[in-house]
Amino acid sequence: MLKADNLSCGYGSVEAVHNVSFDVPAGSVFALLGPNGAGKTSTIMAIMGHVDIHGGSIVLDGDDITRRRAIDRVGLGISLVPEGRQLFSDLTVDENLTAGGYARPISRDAAKRDRVFGYFPRLYERRTQLAGSLSGGEQQMLAIGRALMAEPRLLLVDELSLGLMPKMVDLCLDALLQLKREGLTIVLVEQNTARALDVADQVCVLSSGVQVYRGTAAEAKAAGSMFATFLGMD
Ligand code: ATP
Repeated sequence: MLKADNLSCGYGSVEAVHNVSFDVPAGSVFALLGPNGAGKTSTIMAIMGHVDIHGGSIVLDGDDITRRRAIDRVGLGISLVPEGRQLFSDLTVDENLTAGGYARPISRDAAKRDRVFGYFPRLYERRTQLAGSLSGGEQQMLAIGRALMAEPRLLLVDELSLGLMPKMVDLCLDALLQLKREGLTIVLVEQNTARALDVADQVCVLSSGVQVYRGTAAEAKAAGSMFATFLGMD
């Protein structure tokens, strides 16, 4: 469904990611792993259209989107759950969800909102509460819910587990697995390798902007300490 071919990207003349290639089948979870500064966020920002593409291509369902604007990519069904959530903290849960659906017809809002509340009943309980007053885990649920309001086919999730209690990580990852079962394609950037391997079908490890490992999550788990070497963990 999503194909990156020899993708290089960065910030002006600074190249953060060099010649990365991967293929993400529809309805699967693909995890981008690696240490700080490896280029994981830059890679998903390239898919979203928020960084400079220096070379290579990004193809979504056969359509070359390499040069498409970010707003057009939202229209094509790509939605981002950004690192640090980036919620509108002075707006309520309901208002944040409305903001997420801005690119889609308002007539579908109620049904989509109900769907989000189905994944995250806690958000329903707190729908009139300001986003800034939610716990970290609830904010992450809201960030996922807001992204879902754009009706994505491809969901990009950056550092879901960062700073969250394990129980909240579980709740959010369970929702992503349910979404996958319903056909959504997901690209996950994660520093929590163990949790990422639990939910991913395929993984890719970046180090200093270079792809150093690619395989199925099962292969990565089986590789054990050798896989840890790719992550710079030993
Ligand atoms: P982290 O987990 O720390 O976010 P990451 O793997 O997501 O790491 P990136 O954030 O993609 O890594 O960073 C890759 C490289 O790009 C790093 O060398 C970083 O310093 C650089 N970089 C990131 N954002 C910018 C920017 N706005 N301008 C210039 N360089 C940047």
